[in-house]
Amino acid sequence: MKILSIHADFIEFEAKKEAFKGAEKGIEKGKHRIEECLVIFTAVEKSDESNIKGVLDRYIVEVEKIADQVSAEKIVVYPYAHLSSDLASPVVAEQFLKDAQKELERKFIVDRAPFGWYKSFNISCKGHPLSELSRQFGAEEKSLGLKKEFKDESFVLSDAKLSKEEKIKLTAAYYVGVAIKELFPKADVGSAGFYQDQSYIDIGGVTVKQDDLKRIEKQIQKLTSPTVKETSIKEISLSKVDSELQKDIAKDLGKKSSAYSIGKLQVVPLFNDPFVTSSSIKALKLLNIASAYWKNNQSNKQLTRIYCIAFSSEKEMENYLKKQEEAHNRSHLKIGKEQGLFVVSDLVGSGLPLLAPKGALIRSEIIKFLWQLHQDKGYQQVVIPHIAKDLLYKKSGHWEKFGDELFHVKGRHENFVLKPMNCPHHIQIYTAFSYSYRDLPVRFFEPSTVYRDEKPGQLTGLSRVRSITQDDGHIFCRISQIAQEVKTITGIILSFYKTLGMDKDYWVSLSVRGDDHSLYLGSEDVWKIAESSLEKVAKENKLPFKKIKGEAAFYGPKLDFIFKDALEREWQLATVQLDFNLPERFELSYMNEQGKKERPVMIHRAISGSLERFMSVLIEHFAGKFPAWLSPVQVKVLTISDKHLDFSLDVVAKMRKKGIRVELDDRVETMGKKVREAQMEHVNYILTIGDKEVEKNTVAVRTRDGETTFDVPVDKFITEILDEINERKL
Ligand SMILES: [Zn+2]
Repeated sequence: MKILSIHADFIEFEAKKEAFKGAEKGIEKGKHRIEECLVIFTAVEKSDESNIKGVLDRYIVEVEKIADQVSAEKIVVYPYAHLSSDLASPVVAEQFLKDAQKELERKFIVDRAPFGWYKSFNISCKGHPLSELSRQFGAEEKSLGLKKEFKDESFVLSDAKLSKEEKIKLTAAYYVGVAIKELFPKADVGSAGFYQDQSYIDIGGVTVKQDDLKRIEKQIQKLTSPTVKETSIKEISLSKVDSELQKDIAKDLGKKSSAYSIGKLQVVPLFNDPFVTSSSIKALKLLNIASAYWKNNQSNKQLTRIYCIAFSSEKEMENYLKKQEEAHNRSHLKIGKEQGLFVVSDLVGSGLPLLAPKGALIRSEIIKFLWQLHQDKGYQQVVIPHIAKDLLYKKSGHWEKFGDELFHVKGRHENFVLKPMNCPHHIQIYTAFSYSYRDLPVRFFEPSTVYRDEKPGQLTGLSRVRSITQDDGHIFCRISQIAQEVKTITGIILSFYKTLGMDKDYWVSLSVRGDDHSLYLGSEDVWKIAESSLEKVAKENKLPFKKIKGEAAFYGPKLDFIFKDALEREWQLATVQLDFNLPERFELSYMNEQGKKERPVMIHRAISGSLERFMSVLIEHFAGKFPAWLSPVQVKVLTISDKHLDFSLDVVAKMRKKGIRVELDDRVETMGKKVREAQMEHVNYILTIGDKEVEKNTVAVRTRDGETTFDVPVDKFITEILDEINERKL
């Protein structure tokens, strides 16, 4: 692998002509210009093919390192054959570049120049010492070392029990094999398996190209149609298997292997009971082609790996493809920039995002809502500074726990540490007062920022930061009060996520002790009560929970809430953690009924987790189309001409008075253009005002999805949108 990186003011490129027949298809023609970016000229070499996954890992690490050195947020992956005289095969190289793009998109805004085309380009290099760097590398030494021996990897029979969805995908992969065998009689079918949410099958003996995929798909449809009986799946005796590759698999799997016939194909799968009937596959799509070596050994023959996806309904397929596309368009980095939600400044530093007015608005609405959920449940707000003497953290144990991640602040007279946690500060407030059992539980609420010196290479947008605002809360209570407190917190968590539409599909992890109880702090009795209280609350609230043994912290059991966003990605966000340790370390107490000191239990709880990461989840969950209560701009008023300005100003003023976030667009532009731009900004309602509206004291209301209602009285619109905002409707 050879790369040349240029930190550029801009790059402009244009695909001119296909360099060879296998050039990338479906590319965007015309000039592309990307400003302020890091361009990675990339040549994938023959020697990379033996461990392409290892090389990809290394490539990502190198690019991230360079991007971090020059603080780049945009990457342009640029195939550049001239860097090497020993290039990898085009199929491998093209797939590599696509995979690299996907991988880098987790952290950066990424563009990619087309593969296999003659391109003109124009680049302006920044000219600082790090703006031009070149690298040459293979996979990590460790994995290279393994590969150098060119050893076969044996097939093993998996003991995983496949779900119905998995069986559908795997069956589909084998039907890809059957179809290819019909279209290319010389083809050899190898093993099939899973990669992320897709399945794949390896094909030898023939060359299958991206262009063939449509034809193969059509053939599969024919084969799996319910009227075709001869391609159904039957278990057969191993002795009937005649393909060399399948025989090889059977040899590796040993006695436990079983064989099946699917049409003319006989296969030995790597899973038990792996098939569904062909009629269960209602939708199938071939996605990609890559290369693989038989038994992952580069001295063996090279195979074509074909990735596919399959479902039991067309609807599921539609959803899947839509989600794939959405994931690309929803990145919080992309939307954050488009909508001006947050910025990262070189002078402030990476991992220290700055919320611009629109981002700050979203955050303050979240905090307002969180407080609203707490204020009638006995919580009190507290406010703490962001630094403390190191003694505080030595006493709390965080000095040791966070070690190198602590930021040290040198003062003129004393030295301090930027707080890595809020709990020790809150504890100091508790200890400053004396409490009796009647005062308990004492509940503090405060979203406050903690600081941890994370590795620069891992920082990204709002999701990995050095300044982490926990929506923190601490409860000091009696052991007998644990169950009620946890119940209240659970109620808060569920109503918060319900309001955001994220409560449809979540689960809860209940972390309890492992078998060796000597590893945990606190008495057996207290632990029993604590664990059973959490479990009781989980059961009473019908939470979909899994009890996970050995996952509890040494100082107490916990409940973690894992929610799915609109793209069905799981996020561990809310948490309720019992703590017997900190009350002990800080010798916390309250007076019991007998006038004797007793130790309270501490509960740490967070509803959104960290506000930064939570905002990144929200931005992607809503794809920037926030519900009205969270929207930075809820209404945009558009004037048709200057005659309507006075009336429009009145309407705007009226709404502002009610607290509605409204903007006026009185530019002399066509209505079409103004509407389009307002739609791009994802404002919730677009109001247009012309002669008729002025005359009748109404507005024409257009939703951001394009639904329009005419003649809406101004007051009626205001009442309705206020309802929507105040009820936090989705
Ligand atoms: Zn805490």
